[in-house]
Amino acid sequence: MPRSVSQPSNMTTLGCALFATRWLQAPLYFGLVAAQGVYVYKFFNELWHLIHHVISGHADETHVMLAVLKLVDVVMIANLLIMVIVGGYETFVSRIGLQGHRDQPEWLSHVNSNVLKVKLATAIVGISSVHLLQMFVDVHHTPRHDLLWGTVIHMAFIASAAILAYMSGPMAAHEAKAHPVKEESPAPAIPAQRDKEPRGREEPGAGSEERIAAAGFPARKVLETFDEGHLRAPDPQVIARLGKADFVARKANVVLLGGPGTGKTHLAVALGVRACQAGHRVLFARAADWGARLADAKAAGRLRKELAALDAYPLLVVDEVGYVPFEPEAAHLFFQLVAHRYERGSLIVTSNRPLGRWAEVFGDDAMASATVDRLAHHAEVVTLDAESYRTRRLEGAAVTGWGGSGPAF
Ligand code: ADP
Ligand code: MG
Repeated sequence: MPRSVSQPSNMTTLGCALFATRWLQAPLYFGLVAAQGVYVYKFFNELWHLIHHVISGHADETHVMLAVLKLVDVVMIANLLIMVIVGGYETFVSRIGLQGHRDQPEWLSHVNSNVLKVKLATAIVGISSVHLLQMFVDVHHTPRHDLLWGTVIHMAFIASAAILAYMSGPMAAHEAKAHPVKEESPAPAIPAQRDKEPRGREEPGAGSEERIAAAGFPARKVLETFDEGHLRAPDPQVIARLGKADFVARKANVVLLGGPGTGKTHLAVALGVRACQAGHRVLFARAADWGARLADAKAAGRLRKELAALDAYPLLVVDEVGYVPFEPEAAHLFFQLVAHRYERGSLIVTSNRPLGRWAEVFGDDAMASATVDRLAHHAEVVTLDAESYRTRRLEGAAVTGWGGSGPAF
């Protein structure tokens, strides 16, 4: 999938030069990789000693426990290191582009300096717990002074992690307040936006049911009930990849094409649900309803405001483009929506017509190609090739379906 690497046009040369200095940090991360190597060596050294002691019969239970705790300690510090290396590099130097990688850490897709701080603080608490445990296991050989300070320091780590975690909440809320979503007169077919939810992405999981309820999906459809085996195309891997919903973080689009009943709406809703679960706010409506909403806004002289308010939704779903050709005004409004979202937010668009035939939908060649150009630039265009799922039981009878003829539907 193509990805923009272009530099924002409003960036000054000085700003650009300053920004480029972030690369100075790159070697630091490689230095930390060397430190990882040291920990790997230390781990196996400890492990070897442990095995040696056990075999030679020198190790009692306490000794083994202490040695294992030491190993756990080494692994936890190594985990901390990888978190700093990958998370720090991704946040402060450059994107690693792990999206879609099967080993992508769960936290990396929404990493920012706040998340990283909290993760690090909790990792440090984990490490200090192991240290404290080591002291208590070996309590007869640990001076009281060390025990006392170990406990005090551990408490200080816990307090600072709790404070950081608490502060990351209000920070997200502050961000939300700075970009409130104003809803003056929503079109009835599209659910009202909820100001109390923070803007954009949240911790995955938290509030996902509220986001799903607020998204306006016509029915609850999930990927788990989508039968990929029914489709001749695309490959199930494509659907699994889209199901990670990381296209939303990249502000990329998904275009689902196919004949009636091939599961476009099902898939669009299911991907929307996944995006909600990944912490994104989503808004779903049919193309005609989007048209009505934007036409209302335009008539009230607040189209720009309306488009800006929709920025609060990292993902908009536009279902059923092309079932009914657009009126000239609706065509223009749809173009404006796509142009506004370009590299700013994601769209899932479903259509029963191949992109090459969108001129028929727009009634205007130039506008259709300008829209398709922006929509498809950073997009996964997926053509669902299947018999209609609705009439599948009639297969073999009189119904021949749309499939079999490839993407020409
Ligand atoms: P489209 O939007 O392409 O016309 P829908 O997504 O509305 O089709 O699908 C029609 C019905 O068939 C829905 O109830 C949907 O859940 C179901 N359906 C379609 N494709 C599949 C599939 N591959 N697996 C499971 N259910 C499907
Ligand atoms: Mg549909």
